[in-house]
Amino acid sequence: MSAFSHRDPAARGLGMTSQRARDRLVERLAAEGIRDRRVLDVMRALPRHLFIDEALASRAYEDTALPIGQGQTISQPYVVARMTEALIEPKLPRRVLEVGTGSGYQCAVLAQLVEQVYTVERIEELLRNARRRFRKLGLDNIRSRHDDGRLGWPDEAPFDAIIVTAAGAGLETALLDQLAPDGCLVAPVGPPGRQTLLRVRAGEQGWVSESLGAVSFVPLLGGTG
Ligand code: SAH
Repeated sequence: MSAFSHRDPAARGLGMTSQRARDRLVERLAAEGIRDRRVLDVMRALPRHLFIDEALASRAYEDTALPIGQGQTISQPYVVARMTEALIEPKLPRRVLEVGTGSGYQCAVLAQLVEQVYTVERIEELLRNARRRFRKLGLDNIRSRHDDGRLGWPDEAPFDAIIVTAAGAGLETALLDQLAPDGCLVAPVGPPGRQTLLRVRAGEQGWVSESLGAVSFVPLLGGTG
Protein backbone atom coordinates (compact mmCIF):
# COMPACT_ATOMS: atom_id res chain seq x y z
CA MET A 1 0.00 0.00 0.00
CA SER A 2 2.94 2.36 0.47
CA ALA A 3 4.11 2.03 -3.15
CA PHE A 4 2.92 5.54 -4.07
CA SER A 5 5.55 7.22 -1.95
CA HIS A 6 8.33 5.62 -3.93
CA ARG A 7 7.02 6.05 -7.48
CA ASP A 8 5.80 9.64 -7.54
CA PRO A 9 8.69 12.13 -7.07
CA ALA A 10 6.41 14.77 -5.49
CA ALA A 11 5.16 12.23 -2.97
CA ARG A 12 8.65 10.91 -2.28
CA GLY A 13 9.85 14.40 -1.33
CA LEU A 14 13.29 15.96 -0.97
CA GLY A 15 15.35 17.33 1.91
CA MET A 16 12.98 18.31 4.73
CA THR A 17 10.22 16.24 3.07
CA SER A 18 12.34 13.19 2.26
CA GLN A 19 12.01 9.61 3.40
CA ARG A 20 14.71 10.35 6.00
CA ALA A 21 12.51 13.06 7.50
CA ARG A 22 9.59 10.59 7.72
CA ASP A 23 11.86 7.93 9.23
CA ARG A 24 13.00 10.36 11.93
CA LEU A 25 9.41 11.32 12.74
CA VAL A 26 8.45 7.66 13.11
CA GLU A 27 11.45 6.99 15.37
CA ARG A 28 10.28 9.85 17.53
CA LEU A 29 6.70 8.54 17.66
CA ALA A 30 8.00 5.12 18.71
CA ALA A 31 10.19 6.73 21.39
CA GLU A 32 7.12 8.60 22.66
CA GLY A 33 5.23 5.35 23.12
CA ILE A 34 3.49 4.47 19.85
CA ARG A 35 3.86 0.69 19.71
CA ASP A 36 1.61 -0.50 16.90
CA ARG A 37 3.82 -1.49 13.93
CA ARG A 38 0.95 -1.14 11.48
CA VAL A 39 0.45 2.51 12.43
CA LEU A 40 4.17 3.30 12.38
CA ASP A 41 4.62 1.65 8.97
CA VAL A 42 1.76 3.56 7.38
CA MET A 43 3.00 6.87 8.80
CA ARG A 44 6.53 6.12 7.63
CA ALA A 45 5.27 5.83 4.05
CA LEU A 46 2.53 8.47 3.89
CA PRO A 47 3.75 11.86 2.55
CA ARG A 48 2.33 14.28 5.15
CA HIS A 49 3.84 17.20 3.22
CA LEU A 50 1.20 16.70 0.51
CA PHE A 51 -1.54 17.43 3.06
CA ILE A 52 -0.40 20.97 3.87
CA ASP A 53 0.36 24.15 1.97
CA GLU A 54 3.69 24.11 0.10
CA ALA A 55 4.88 27.08 2.14
CA LEU A 56 4.76 24.89 5.27
CA ALA A 57 6.02 21.67 3.64
CA SER A 58 9.44 21.93 5.29
CA ARG A 59 7.70 21.57 8.68
CA ALA A 60 5.58 18.58 7.66
CA TYR A 61 7.65 16.06 9.65
CA GLU A 62 7.88 18.04 12.85
CA ASP A 63 5.64 16.53 15.50
CA THR A 64 3.29 19.48 15.51
CA ALA A 65 -0.17 20.58 14.35
CA LEU A 66 -0.04 23.02 11.42
CA PRO A 67 -2.59 25.43 9.89
CA ILE A 68 -4.52 24.21 6.82
CA GLY A 69 -6.62 27.35 6.22
CA GLN A 70 -10.14 28.31 7.35
CA GLY A 71 -8.86 28.48 10.93
CA GLN A 72 -8.36 24.70 11.01
CA THR A 73 -5.30 22.52 11.61
CA ILE A 74 -3.84 19.19 10.52
CA SER A 75 -3.46 17.22 13.77
CA GLN A 76 -0.10 16.60 15.41
CA PRO A 77 1.41 13.31 14.12
CA TYR A 78 1.65 11.87 17.65
CA VAL A 79 -2.07 12.46 18.17
CA VAL A 80 -2.93 10.90 14.78
CA ALA A 81 -0.83 7.86 15.71
CA ARG A 82 -2.33 7.59 19.19
CA MET A 83 -5.92 7.91 17.96
CA THR A 84 -5.35 5.41 15.17
CA GLU A 85 -3.78 2.95 17.59
CA ALA A 86 -6.68 3.39 20.01
CA LEU A 87 -9.15 2.73 17.21
CA ILE A 88 -7.59 -0.41 15.74
CA GLU A 89 -6.16 -2.00 18.90
CA PRO A 90 -9.24 -3.60 20.40
CA LYS A 91 -10.07 -5.22 17.03
CA LEU A 92 -9.21 -4.09 13.50
CA PRO A 93 -12.40 -2.39 12.26
CA ARG A 94 -13.62 -2.99 8.73
CA ARG A 95 -15.68 0.19 8.20
CA VAL A 96 -14.70 3.45 9.91
CA LEU A 97 -16.43 6.84 10.06
CA GLU A 98 -14.30 9.95 10.55
CA VAL A 99 -15.85 13.28 11.58
CA GLY A 100 -13.67 16.24 10.51
CA THR A 101 -11.80 15.41 7.29
CA GLY A 102 -9.68 18.58 7.46
CA SER A 103 -6.54 18.00 5.39
CA GLY A 104 -7.43 14.34 4.89
CA TYR A 105 -4.24 13.08 6.57
CA GLN A 106 -5.88 11.10 9.40
CA CYS A 107 -8.32 9.67 6.87
CA ALA A 108 -5.49 8.61 4.55
CA VAL A 109 -3.72 6.86 7.45
CA LEU A 110 -6.91 4.93 8.25
CA ALA A 111 -7.60 4.11 4.60
CA GLN A 112 -4.40 2.08 4.50
CA LEU A 113 -5.35 0.05 7.56
CA VAL A 114 -9.03 -0.71 7.10
CA GLU A 115 -11.33 -1.74 4.26
CA GLN A 116 -13.48 1.38 3.91
CA VAL A 117 -13.39 4.87 5.41
CA TYR A 118 -16.29 7.34 5.41
CA THR A 119 -15.37 10.93 6.23
CA VAL A 120 -17.51 14.03 6.80
CA GLU A 121 -16.30 17.66 6.72
CA ARG A 122 -18.37 20.82 7.27
CA ILE A 123 -16.07 23.19 5.30
CA GLU A 124 -16.44 22.57 1.59
CA GLU A 125 -13.10 24.00 0.50
CA LEU A 126 -11.16 21.77 2.88
CA LEU A 127 -13.10 18.77 1.63
CA ARG A 128 -12.31 19.64 -2.00
CA ASN A 129 -8.59 19.80 -1.22
CA ALA A 130 -8.69 16.54 0.72
CA ARG A 131 -10.47 14.76 -2.14
CA ARG A 132 -7.80 15.96 -4.58
CA ARG A 133 -5.12 14.46 -2.31
CA PHE A 134 -6.94 11.12 -2.03
CA ARG A 135 -7.14 10.93 -5.84
CA LYS A 136 -3.49 11.86 -6.26
CA LEU A 137 -2.43 9.14 -3.84
CA GLY A 138 -4.75 6.57 -5.42
CA LEU A 139 -6.69 6.05 -2.17
CA ASP A 140 -9.93 4.65 -3.55
CA ASN A 141 -11.51 3.23 -0.40
CA ILE A 142 -12.62 6.61 0.99
CA ARG A 143 -16.13 8.06 0.65
CA SER A 144 -16.50 11.67 1.71
CA ARG A 145 -19.36 14.05 2.26
CA HIS A 146 -19.95 17.74 2.97
CA ASP A 147 -22.19 17.86 6.03
CA ASP A 148 -22.42 18.40 9.76
CA GLY A 149 -20.56 15.32 10.96
CA ARG A 150 -22.22 15.44 14.39
CA LEU A 151 -25.11 13.71 12.63
CA GLY A 152 -22.84 10.91 11.44
CA TRP A 153 -23.71 9.19 8.15
CA PRO A 154 -26.97 7.36 8.96
CA ASP A 155 -27.35 5.73 5.52
CA GLU A 156 -24.03 3.92 5.93
CA ALA A 157 -24.35 3.03 9.63
CA PRO A 158 -23.48 1.00 11.59
CA PHE A 159 -19.72 1.55 11.70
CA ASP A 160 -17.18 -0.71 13.40
CA ALA A 161 -15.38 2.39 14.64
CA ILE A 162 -15.90 6.16 14.69
CA ILE A 163 -13.16 8.77 15.09
CA VAL A 164 -13.92 12.42 15.78
CA THR A 165 -11.09 14.87 15.09
CA ALA A 166 -12.63 18.03 16.57
CA ALA A 167 -13.63 18.56 20.20
CA GLY A 168 -17.26 18.75 21.30
CA ALA A 169 -18.61 19.61 24.74
CA GLY A 170 -19.70 16.00 25.19
CA LEU A 171 -20.22 12.79 23.28
CA GLU A 172 -22.67 13.00 20.37
CA THR A 173 -25.52 10.53 20.85
CA ALA A 174 -26.18 10.40 17.07
CA LEU A 175 -22.67 9.04 16.64
CA LEU A 176 -22.93 6.51 19.47
CA ASP A 177 -26.18 5.31 17.89
CA GLN A 178 -24.32 4.57 14.64
CA LEU A 179 -21.74 2.27 16.27
CA ALA A 180 -21.89 -1.47 15.63
CA PRO A 181 -22.53 -3.51 18.83
CA ASP A 182 -18.86 -4.21 19.54
CA GLY A 183 -17.63 -0.98 17.96
CA CYS A 184 -15.61 1.82 19.54
CA LEU A 185 -15.58 5.58 19.27
CA VAL A 186 -12.49 7.73 19.82
CA ALA A 187 -13.14 11.43 20.38
CA PRO A 188 -11.69 14.50 22.13
CA VAL A 189 -14.20 16.01 24.55
CA GLY A 190 -14.21 19.22 26.56
CA PRO A 191 -13.63 22.99 26.31
CA PRO A 192 -10.37 24.50 24.94
CA GLY A 193 -7.53 23.92 27.37
CA ARG A 194 -9.35 21.09 29.17
CA GLN A 195 -9.91 18.44 26.52
CA THR A 196 -9.56 14.73 27.10
CA LEU A 197 -9.28 12.03 24.47
CA LEU A 198 -11.90 9.35 25.17
CA ARG A 199 -12.38 5.83 23.86
CA VAL A 200 -15.95 4.67 24.30
CA ARG A 201 -17.34 1.14 23.98
CA ALA A 202 -20.61 -0.52 24.83
CA GLY A 203 -20.53 -2.28 28.20
CA GLU A 204 -23.10 -4.52 29.81
CA GLN A 205 -24.84 -1.56 31.45
CA GLY A 206 -24.35 1.25 28.98
CA TRP A 207 -21.35 3.06 27.55
CA VAL A 208 -17.93 2.59 29.08
CA SER A 209 -15.46 5.39 28.46
CA GLU A 210 -11.75 5.32 29.04
CA SER A 211 -9.50 8.40 29.11
CA LEU A 212 -6.46 8.36 26.83
CA GLY A 213 -4.98 11.65 28.05
CA ALA A 214 -5.08 15.40 27.50
CA VAL A 215 -5.30 16.75 23.93
CA SER A 216 -5.87 20.03 22.11
CA PHE A 217 -8.25 20.09 19.12
CA VAL A 218 -10.18 22.72 17.18
CA PRO A 219 -13.88 22.83 18.20
CA LEU A 220 -16.58 20.59 16.75
CA LEU A 221 -19.00 23.12 15.25
CA GLY A 222 -22.60 22.89 14.14
CA GLY A 223 -23.91 23.24 10.59
CA THR A 224 -21.85 23.52 7.43
CA GLY A 225 -19.41 26.26 6.44
N1 SAH B 1 -8.58 14.87 10.67
C1 SAH B 1 -8.09 16.18 10.27
C2 SAH B 1 -8.13 17.16 11.42
C3 SAH B 1 -8.63 18.48 10.97
S1 SAH B 1 -9.09 19.62 12.22
C4 SAH B 1 -6.72 16.07 9.63
O1 SAH B 1 -6.11 15.00 9.70
O2 SAH B 1 -6.25 17.05 9.04
C5 SAH B 1 -10.80 19.21 12.47
C6 SAH B 1 -11.72 19.37 11.29
O3 SAH B 1 -13.04 19.13 11.78
C7 SAH B 1 -11.77 20.76 10.65
O4 SAH B 1 -11.51 20.65 9.29
C8 SAH B 1 -13.20 21.24 10.91
O5 SAH B 1 -13.73 22.02 9.85
C9 SAH B 1 -13.93 19.93 11.05
N2 SAH B 1 -15.20 20.00 11.77
C10 SAH B 1 -15.51 20.71 12.88
N3 SAH B 1 -16.80 20.49 13.25
C11 SAH B 1 -17.31 19.62 12.32
C12 SAH B 1 -18.59 19.03 12.12
N4 SAH B 1 -19.63 19.26 12.94
N5 SAH B 1 -18.74 18.19 11.07
C13 SAH B 1 -17.74 17.93 10.21
N6 SAH B 1 -16.51 18.47 10.34
C14 SAH B 1 -16.30 19.32 11.38
